[in-house]
Amino acid sequence: MSLNRIAAFLIVAAAIGVVSTVTVPAQSSGIKAFTGARVIDGTDRAPIDNATIVVREGRIVSVGPAGRATVPAGAERVSLTGKTVIPGLINAHGHVGNTVGLQQGKYSRENVLHDLKTYAAYGVTTVYSLGDDQEAGFKIRDAQNTPALDHARLYVAGPVLSPKSPEDARRLVDEVAAMKADIVKIRVDDNLGTSTKMPPDIYKAVIDESHKKSMRTAVHLFYLEDAKGVLDAGADFIAHSIRDKDVDEPVIAMLKRRDVCVCPTLMREVSTFAYETTPSWFSDPLFLKHVDPKTVEQLKEPARQEQMKNSKSAQRYKVALEQASKNLKKLADSGVKIAMGTDTGPPARFQGYFELMELELMAKAGLTPKQVLLSATRDAARCQKLDQNLGTLEANKWADFVVLDADPLANISNTRKIADVYVAGNRVAR
Ligand SMILES: [Zn+2]
Repeated sequence: MSLNRIAAFLIVAAAIGVVSTVTVPAQSSGIKAFTGARVIDGTDRAPIDNATIVVREGRIVSVGPAGRATVPAGAERVSLTGKTVIPGLINAHGHVGNTVGLQQGKYSRENVLHDLKTYAAYGVTTVYSLGDDQEAGFKIRDAQNTPALDHARLYVAGPVLSPKSPEDARRLVDEVAAMKADIVKIRVDDNLGTSTKMPPDIYKAVIDESHKKSMRTAVHLFYLEDAKGVLDAGADFIAHSIRDKDVDEPVIAMLKRRDVCVCPTLMREVSTFAYETTPSWFSDPLFLKHVDPKTVEQLKEPARQEQMKNSKSAQRYKVALEQASKNLKKLADSGVKIAMGTDTGPPARFQGYFELMELELMAKAGLTPKQVLLSATRDAARCQKLDQNLGTLEANKWADFVVLDADPLANISNTRKIADVYVAGNRVAR
């Protein structure tokens, strides 16, 4: 069959419903124009009504009012009239590859891709994994700079380091640097007094060696005093809220002096106690759409719920959530940069859906919808040094965005009203 006859066949076939979609063969222009939406571009600028977003080869060419837009001939037009567009959400602290049911699954390419598709289905188009990353994850990261991408982007930390001595620390950091990880991750925590905390001489060596290798160190922590210790040692990213006490002026000054970001991960706390009963979101169709039903059934088991109810640590983390929320508001008001993050990925910390809940918890803590959105887009990108390519809808950045049926600046919960999600200008399967 000639090309013309193939095309004619496809058109007829589509008309009579034999095939549901027609793929135009060969030379499509690779240019797309998304028209008619209200665009919140993730910068400080006011939203643009009736905007046109032109995308070429997965990147934004221009964003502006329709009247000033030039749509190249041959562009594929996508009408988004009546919708609101926001930059794709960036989770500055997640995990991938281990999420089969409540058991730790086997880290595999399939599992990582499954997770990245789940994140994207909820509008989370970038995930910065802070640990437990293996080779398959590195390979997926290395292959993602393509206009054909159709899942969330991934950045990786490699293994979480737990060195036994300063020498060991330097050796392990060198290994992570050789793997070409995006960041070094450590934990400085005693898990509510149940384990040994990494001592200062060791975390100092980790941070110092990271800097020598031009890498940043992200620190898991819980206590205010540890935050001061690691900041004094040069830590670059605070991967959880300070949860034992009110943040004070000295720690705020330390964070601001080097523009170190704090990642609240409020949903991490929620996951530690929420399953003492059956949480209300277990009946939300948006949640159920991408969750493993067996996991939900297991979390509903009365014996398991009773165990959580009686868990001392669960009850302490419940209090810690209140402290974290209070500190989030104070830090944001003080001008400390907040990077939205959740610590999703481990069992029962549901990727994608939890990020949408995190936004709501941040608003509940007292942040405005605009502050919440910025922390989940532009600021998360800046905090993880991704802002050259991600975080806002501006020329030359990847066309990663979420199409909403309602305006999230009016109510942050409107981020749940997802019509479509695009990564590199490609509509992702949901
Ligand atoms: Zn984590």
